[in-house]
Amino acid sequence: MRTRLAPSPTGALHLGNARTFLANWALARQRSWHITLRIEDLDTPRVKPGVIDLTIDLLRWLGIDWDEGPFVQSHEPAPHLAAMHSLAARGLIYPCDLTRAQIEAAASAPQEGAHDLPFPAHLRPSARPTAFTDSSPSWRFLVPDEPVNFTDEFAGPQSHTPARTVGDFVIWTRRDPGKPGQPAYQLAVVVDDARQGITHVVRGDDLLDSAARQILLYRALGLSPLPHYLHLPLVRGSDAKRLAKRHGDTRLDAYRAKGVPRERVIGLAAHWCGLCSEPRPMSPDEFRDRFSLNTIPHGPVTFTAENDRWLLESKN
Ligand code: GLU
Repeated sequence: MRTRLAPSPTGALHLGNARTFLANWALARQRSWHITLRIEDLDTPRVKPGVIDLTIDLLRWLGIDWDEGPFVQSHEPAPHLAAMHSLAARGLIYPCDLTRAQIEAAASAPQEGAHDLPFPAHLRPSARPTAFTDSSPSWRFLVPDEPVNFTDEFAGPQSHTPARTVGDFVIWTRRDPGKPGQPAYQLAVVVDDARQGITHVVRGDDLLDSAARQILLYRALGLSPLPHYLHLPLVRGSDAKRLAKRHGDTRLDAYRAKGVPRERVIGLAAHWCGLCSEPRPMSPDEFRDRFSLNTIPHGPVTFTAENDRWLLESKN
């Protein structure tokens, strides 16, 4: 059994990420799963120097450890390219150079929220190349019009139909014609989870509908078995939106720089996992030993101004 910690090195590891990584780590240590650390530096805005080291340093600061890695996704492009060749040989992908504006114009629905519309099926070319060449701004995956059913081990039974929600999604992009293209998140994560032998994927439920797309790619690539999925409710701001700048500076790095001890951050994560009714300072060991999926609330978890005050109170 093997799980992975897969931070994107955006420089903004925040309290919500800390809660998810601590939960993933504690579960793995309780159940003797191997832990792989994988830095997902593909398909993100330019990764600034030092940010990968900072991300790793913050995980260590939280008391999290791992058995393998860090593997840095961009360092090993060959498996992602091989997957593209294999999908092309099966006629399951096609190059697409349409701009977002062209796609939106082709979709019949109103413009508002247009980026949430599925890629219109009539824009799919009738003939598809049987070889992949990295020469197009993007390549899309031919999404079958069928529901994807699976059981999430935290969120329960799921049925998603990516053909209706996203349509043929992008799996490869080449933003800069002067540089090689790279896999989009959905492809990179499937290829790497499969080749690294990941059996358990634990992450925020913002990725629950991505799991359906990933299952389609597993099938298209002939990869098995599928991993077990556990999607945990995301920590949100008091406006119910995912944590972002408008909720204040919730980056771990910022709290650490203000002198907040890790025991407070862990204690708040413990409270969000239902381990204590009020936040209280907690060591990594106690969190690991007491963690349970059974106490995690199924509804959204909210970061409040009071939580922020409680964290900062410790520094004086
Ligand atoms: N790198 C992704 C993130 O930081 C996680 C992807 C995954 O767990 O599949 O949001």
